[in-house]
Amino acid sequence: MAEKMGKVWLVGAGPSDIGLLTLKGLRVLEQAQAVVYDQLVGLEILLRIPAGAEAIDVGKQAGNHKKTQEEINRILLEKALEGKRVVRLKGGDPFLFGRGGEELELLRAHGVPFEIVPGVTSALAVPAYNGIPVTHREFASSVHIITGHRKAGEALDIDFQSLAKGGGTLVFLMGVRSLPEIVRGLLAAGMPADTPAAVLERGTSAGQRRVVAALGELEDEAGRQGIGTPAIIVVGEVCKLAETFGWYEQLPLFGEKILVTRPRDRASRLSEKLRELGAETVSLPSIETVPVSDDETKAKIGEAMERLGEYDLLAFTSPYG
Ligand code: SAH
Repeated sequence: MAEKMGKVWLVGAGPSDIGLLTLKGLRVLEQAQAVVYDQLVGLEILLRIPAGAEAIDVGKQAGNHKKTQEEINRILLEKALEGKRVVRLKGGDPFLFGRGGEELELLRAHGVPFEIVPGVTSALAVPAYNGIPVTHREFASSVHIITGHRKAGEALDIDFQSLAKGGGTLVFLMGVRSLPEIVRGLLAAGMPADTPAAVLERGTSAGQRRVVAALGELEDEAGRQGIGTPAIIVVGEVCKLAETFGWYEQLPLFGEKILVTRPRDRASRLSEKLRELGAETVSLPSIETVPVSDDETKAKIGEAMERLGEYDLLAFTSPYG
């Protein structure tokens, strides 16, 4: 065993937009020596993983590389026992359908110290980016967050009766595949077919899309528009406010995903400005400015400087230039 014990930070990365990663989450990430991350973490956030840190993708689904929960727990333990500062980076909030609790058990059993950095959950932020307040004094005084995930071959384990009676806003995560069962369950429990509802896809990113329809038509409408994952389903009167309050897609650069290749120190200001205008940014520094070292280049520059007088105009096309 390593002489120095490491530590694990369970960090919520938010729904996608890097602006929704907390200050504490970013600080911890920037000091990480190993980062174990999921599929739903925004790309711009992943690009903040320090160059020297080990980055471990445990969420890859295509090609069946997805790691089991036990494997993930093991990796976290191993890296901590190697004495590393380990960040377990998860989409949204780590304790809301994030299996954060399970990941802590093994660490606890081995006396590995840990901290939790809560994240902005998609259950609240994705409706917000679509102009849907999940509660509203006129329409809903409670909100229920429900998992629509079901094990292969099993039925959904949801008490539709009490949800339909409660009158609160319903937010289903992991529910796209179960959309037909969810709609059927709510209608069978007596919820009116004209109840406003929505499916919100890839919220807080350039790919954000939404379908708003009456509950009875939601499945058809989502099918027509080819809604995919990740997405959340919202049911309740508040959904009709999306049309009035939708704001994200009104920003001038909404829907644009812009690659920023400037060196890191200069890129962040440009990226920040682009995001203010509604774009999603991908900061991938691919230019490096270093002192000239070889004599031949130095000689050429010296020669050019001596001949400056021959030119009428000297244009610098960038601050580095
Ligand atoms: N802990 C996460 C949820 C994990 S379950 C959180 O707090 O947000 C994964 C589900 O979250 C997805 O199936 C989807 O329903 C939802 N989700 C996560 N990110 C999303 C996004 N950007 N847009 C829409 N739904 C999202």
